[in-house]
Parts: sequence; C-alpha cells; structure tokens
Amino acid sequence: MKTTQDPIKKIVIVGGGTAGWVAAATIGNIFKNIDLKIELVESEDIGVIGVGEATIPPLISILNSLGVDLIDFIKETQASFKLGIQFEDWHTKGEKYFHPFGTVGKSIDGYDFFQCWLKSKAEGDKTPLMAHSPESVLSEKGKFFLPFEAKNTPLERAFYALHLDSALAGKYLRNYAEKLGVVRSEGIVENVSQTADGSIESVTLKSGQSISGDFFIDCSGFKGLLIEKTLKTGYDSWEKFLPCNRAVTVQTKNVGPTNPYTISKAQDAGWMWKIPLQHRTGNGYVFCDKYASDEEATKTLLENIQGEPIMEPRIIPFTTGMRNKSWVKNCLSLGLAQGFIEPLESTAIHLVSKTIAYFIRMFPTKKIDQILIDEYNRRVRADYEEIRDFLILHYCTTEREDTEFWRWCKNMEIPETLQKKIDFFKASGGLIPGTEELFQPTSWYAVFDGMKVEPDSYNPTMDTWDYQKLKDILDKGKQGLIDVAKQQPSHDEFLKKYCQANKI
Ligand SMILES: Cc1cc2nc3c(=O)[nH]c(=O)nc-3n(C[C@H](O)[C@H](O)[C@H](O)COP(=O)(O)OP(=O)(O)OC[C@H]3O[C@@H](n4cnc5c(N)ncnc54)[C@H](O)[C@@H]3O)c2cc1C
Repeated sequence: MKTTQDPIKKIVIVGGGTAGWVAAATIGNIFKNIDLKIELVESEDIGVIGVGEATIPPLISILNSLGVDLIDFIKETQASFKLGIQFEDWHTKGEKYFHPFGTVGKSIDGYDFFQCWLKSKAEGDKTPLMAHSPESVLSEKGKFFLPFEAKNTPLERAFYALHLDSALAGKYLRNYAEKLGVVRSEGIVENVSQTADGSIESVTLKSGQSISGDFFIDCSGFKGLLIEKTLKTGYDSWEKFLPCNRAVTVQTKNVGPTNPYTISKAQDAGWMWKIPLQHRTGNGYVFCDKYASDEEATKTLLENIQGEPIMEPRIIPFTTGMRNKSWVKNCLSLGLAQGFIEPLESTAIHLVSKTIAYFIRMFPTKKIDQILIDEYNRRVRADYEEIRDFLILHYCTTEREDTEFWRWCKNMEIPETLQKKIDFFKASGGLIPGTEELFQPTSWYAVFDGMKVEPDSYNPTMDTWDYQKLKDILDKGKQGLIDVAKQQPSHDEFLKKYCQANKI
C-alpha cells in the first residue's frame, strides 16, 4: 500500500448558511493538522434562509465531536431543550401523541420492550406506551434534566436535542471555523468555470475575483448553483407523496413556560410548528397551495399563535425531494442544495452532518474514484427515502376527513417501501431491520401507536411469560419514571440555573 497520492489541497464551499458553516467547521476540524485549505464564499446581499430551529439528538454528538462546550453553545444561540415532538390533531381533531427521542422502556429479560407492552395491552392493561418513555414523562410535566447527570436512574436513557436560533448557530459555527483557518470571502458568485471533462475549476465573483479549488461543496441553498445550475443533475420531486410546498413563518414574543418539546399541530391544509427559544418563539405553517392560498395560510397562522408577532409573516416556497445525484464529479451538494424534506421531524441539519460523515468516510484524492461517488450517492438516497417514508406515515394513517387536504392524505398512494413496513408491523408488531437508519423502531412505534395503527397480535413467544410477573415489572418501571421525573426542575428553572442565554 502507498501513502496518499495527489491529495486534495483546497476545498471551496459556496454558501454560508447552516449547511456551509457546518461543513466548514466539521471538515476544518478533521483536517486541522494537515495542509488542506478551505475557502467559503457567501453573500450578505443574498443572505440565508433563516429557518431551521428544531434539531434532533445527533446535533449533540456533532457539537461533542467538534469539542464545542454545550452550555456555551446554548447560551450563545438562545437555545432551549427538546425531548421530542407533540403531535396534535393528526389522527383526529382533539387527539394528540408524543414522539420522544430515545427508546421507550428497556428490554425485559431479553424480550423486546414493545412486545412486552403489546402483551400487557392484549391482557387489558390500559397504560399508554408513552408512560414508559423518560422524554414523554418529563415533557408532560414540563421538566428537564441532563441524562448524563442522572446516572443510575431511569432518566439516564433519555435523549435530547435543542431548539436554537439558526442565525446565531451559523454565527457560532463561523467563528469556530475561522479560528481553524477557514477563509471566508464575501461576494456573489456570478460565473462557474469547468474543465474539459466537466469538473468545476473555479467560481468567479461579481467583483471579478476568481476562486479555484480541487473540490467544491455546493451549499448555495435551493437553487443549487453548482450541482444543478452548472452540473444539471436534476431534481427528484416527491410532491406526489408529500404535497406541502410552502411555509409561512412568524416569530413571536414568548408567552408562558418554555416547553421542552416542539409542537406540531395539524391544520386544514398542512400543519403548524411552535418552537420555543429563550428569547422568542418560532412559528410556521407548512401547507399545500392546492388547498390554501398564501393569504388563508397567513390568516390561520396568525390566528393560532400565542405571543405578539415580532416580524412580518414570511412565505417560503419549496418542493420536497432531492437531487438525482448529490455528488457529481468534484462537486458535493449539502443542505437545501442537496434536497429538502419538509421539516416535520426536523431532519435537515442532521442530514447535512450525516452526509458530511459519509463524505469523510469516502474522502477522495484528486483522482476521484467513481465507486466512491456511487456508494455515497446510494447512501444519501437511502437516508432521504427512509425519512420520506417515515414522514408519509404521519399523513397516510390519518382518520381525518374534515378537509379536502386530509381526505386526500387518508386515501393517498404510498411508496412500496413504506407499505412493506406497515404490512410487516401489522403482521408482527416489529420492524424490518435496516442499516444505519435514523429512525429507530421506537420512533416508528410512537407514530404507529399515536396514529392508532395496531399489529394483529404480539409475538407468540410472549405467552411463555407469567403475565402477572410481567405486569409487576412494567408497573414498577412506570412508577420509577414518575417518581424521578417529579424530583427534577422545570425546564425554565433548569435553563435559568445552568444555561441562561447571553444578552443579544
Ligand atoms: C420552512 C422551513 C423550515 C425548516 N425547519 C427546519 C427545522 O426545524 N430543522 C432543521 O433541521 N431544518 C429545517 N429547515 C431546513 C434548514 O433551514 C436548512 O437545511 C438549513 O438552514 C441549511 O440551509 P442551507 O445552508 O442549505 O441554505 P441557505 O440558508 O439558503 O444558505 C445558502 C447560502 O448560499 C449563499 N449563496 C447563494 N447564492 C449565492 C451566490 N450566487 N453567491 C454567493 N453566495 C450565494 C447565501 O448567501 C447563503 O449563505 C427548514 C427549512 C424550511 C424551508
């Protein structure tokens, strides 16, 4: 085996939104000890999309891997904690359910917890599944505590993420990346030059400055300046499965206690989010323009917010789907340039870091081997399709028939991959095992249970149990969670004591 031949010496990142700065910080951190230059070009005149405030637990791992102090990050980004998502009015109006991070229950004597719960339910036990989720029990009581501080209690298996101000998070990561030597250039990219084989050679700014590199990362947002406008890879639209194509957003003053969870409330033509931060609340209505106009959606949003608006409502159009190829020649796309799945499960920022992780695993030399590109593209597509199917599950299992939008959802066509998952769940109460999937069985069980999709039966091996013994273990676990949750501070008390946001 030889040492690395012809290594990449310079990466150019086009775009300084969350995607661009996450890429600059992560790649900059990994290569900090070797001679690899990173230059990021962005335009203040164009600006960033300015949404993307709810995250999922892998964000905490990214911050850890960067060596970022979590409490400092929370203070600087006005963040609050998130233990999961509360879905309201999705199954029928008035019904709600919780999708927690982390696992629900612990396996009992090697038996899958969900099967134990199904067995108990079949025996007449009315305890909800979420009574066994630390995140759900804490959320219901508006409490929070850091799991690693709760060793040897049932809270230690809880997972959490953050609600954060995306503009401040971008600023934080920019600062981090610049300290590592990432060079930022201000300006609008007007021209892209290609080599004879179609690879990207350089980008030229409006000022005339030319920036060349060995490898380019397109983080230019929806337009995909390099991956689409230059390399013309094409976009695979999933509108036929996820038809919501616009959002109207507004920020409001905070009212009442800060929930340690996101609220997703179904509306007549889509759903509305509520994301509480320390200094304000983010609200948005994701809707489909076939079923509501911008004016109607804005009116619905303004009628449903609690605090006083601190900005004018803003409309953001989008198309759910992904680029046909995320990596083409010497260009990788990330963030909105790579694809977009509506923010129902807050997966976009996670997809940025997960695909950077794939890229790092398959990091090329200047001679880019096509097999790396193909494997990377296969994995990215598998991740997007997994998330797509999980989101569709939230819609297609509705029992609502009160508006045209929900009648459409109830009768929608679904991908074969999802149909197989639902059929398998109904037959076995389990899931077809996947590899490197983001949404683990607990997530699927939470949505199946919340949307009242039941398996025909539990796994027959559960009948080998003495039921009373099983019931005692389940009851003890449930009570243990209630007892320990009671002792924890409220989410607001926790924020105030340990991570009160810095003044801005
Ligand atoms: C309605 C909505 C809600 C969302 N909610 C969430 C959420 O809750 N959680 C989550 O994880 N994600 C969410 N997202 C996604 C999230 O906002 C994005 O994934 C994230 O902000 C990354 O965006 P980006 O960096 O790819 O693009 P942008 O923020 O659009 O950044 C693009 C960058 O490219 C630069 N640029 C563009 N053209 C040029 C040019 N010609 N020359 C120079 N620079 C250029 C811009 O200046 C900017 O710096 C949401 C998205 C939408 C639309």
